[in-house]
Amino acid sequence: MNQKTQVFISGAGPSGLAAALFFAKNGVPVRIIDKNRQRSDKSKALGVQAGTLESIDYYLDPEMTKKMITQGQKVSSAYLHIDHREPITVDLSVISSNYNFVLILPQSETERILEEALEKYGVKVERNTELVDFEQNDNRVLIKLSGETARADFLLGCDGAHSTVRHKLNFSFKGSPYDGDFILGDVQVNWPWPKDSIRIFINAKGTIACFPIKGGMYRLVLIPKFSKPSKESDMTSAEFQSITRELSGGKIETLDPQWMTRFRVHHRLAERFRNDRVFLVGDAAHIHSPAGGQGMNTGIQDALILAQKLTKVIQGKEAYSSLDNYEKERRPIAKSVLRATDLVSRMGLAKENALLHATRRYLIPKIVKFKPFQRYVAHGISEVGIARKQIQKNPSF
Ligand SMILES: Cc1cc2nc3c(=O)[nH]c(=O)nc-3n(C[C@H](O)[C@H](O)[C@H](O)COP(=O)(O)OP(=O)(O)OC[C@H]3O[C@@H](n4cnc5c(N)ncnc54)[C@H](O)[C@@H]3O)c2cc1C
Repeated sequence: MNQKTQVFISGAGPSGLAAALFFAKNGVPVRIIDKNRQRSDKSKALGVQAGTLESIDYYLDPEMTKKMITQGQKVSSAYLHIDHREPITVDLSVISSNYNFVLILPQSETERILEEALEKYGVKVERNTELVDFEQNDNRVLIKLSGETARADFLLGCDGAHSTVRHKLNFSFKGSPYDGDFILGDVQVNWPWPKDSIRIFINAKGTIACFPIKGGMYRLVLIPKFSKPSKESDMTSAEFQSITRELSGGKIETLDPQWMTRFRVHHRLAERFRNDRVFLVGDAAHIHSPAGGQGMNTGIQDALILAQKLTKVIQGKEAYSSLDNYEKERRPIAKSVLRATDLVSRMGLAKENALLHATRRYLIPKIVKFKPFQRYVAHGISEVGIARKQIQKNPSF
């Protein structure tokens, strides 16, 4: 069966869903498929940054932002425990936004909220449907799916790190994996501190970052310096507890794990984000380490900016050539996010030596206590500056 539609989206993660919702809301005929049978229930990306909330307000619906905030947990402070000494407080409420906090909301919830809003516009994600190949000419894209061929004016590859769309475009995805595993677990914690803030423990053995999830759970991200990359993604609760104990100097006990995984993190950037009528969005175009919680946020913002540009072109309000600006605007942003998250990740994984020890012990505490530095970091992580610049360049109708 051939179906005509204006925008075809492959991949219903946060990037694909955000783009589809923008099109549906603005009356652009859109189809969105996903090869998976059902929406993932994994919490994956947890931090929704203020810049993303402002973008959702502006491009989608302030009611959606409210819903996300109600479902999530607002966090306004972080504590940095260096070498098991007294923690240094980092005030996140200095972010200059109405959303002066980090919203902790499991990715599965963000996706559910986006998908439910999409369904209200009569657009359903077509699951168990895989993009296998495509070809394009001057007017259209022919998309080969498992079971049918579809046609559309534009194709968006929102199909994640292993993007078929990117492979078929033959774009390189340069970068490399980090030398060591990242371990995630959604668990209950037993520790001597209040359970409402982000806590980060850094010492000679590695790093633990802890994020409160609504309902009393914590997401722990363990980055041990002593681990060799493992092929196994599964791990036992005993193994998780043992690494947590080692990295926290025995201060954190974990109980009742809901989800644990071990994975290798890559940092990579696609050589281009567009070939004529075909675009790459989100993880299909750039993947980062989870340090700073930027991956999903950058993807959602890519999606909204591109959807805005395409809608203007489809509705005859902008010239086709204006689409060139998508890659011009978004690739440098992805590159700078990659640079920042790469630096932090390398520092976290670097082998212990006298210089690193002295830097952590004497220099980092001084810098982190310096309020203007805290403001600079909180503002950078919030992506507020990036989001507002993009909104200025891409105003709504
Ligand atoms: C274990 C884990 C933990 C993470 N933790 C964090 C974190 O703490 N902070 C953070 O910011 N980021 C984190 N991330 C990264 C974050 O999840 C991604 O940045 C985000 O999911 C990107 O969204 P996306 O929509 O671009 O791609 P994805 O979420 O990967 O979605 C792509 C979708 O495309 C579908 N698809 C793929 N190929 C095809 C095809 N050929 N045809 C049809 N459909 C297809 C897939 O089924 C998938 O649903 C984590 C990722 C993982 C795996």
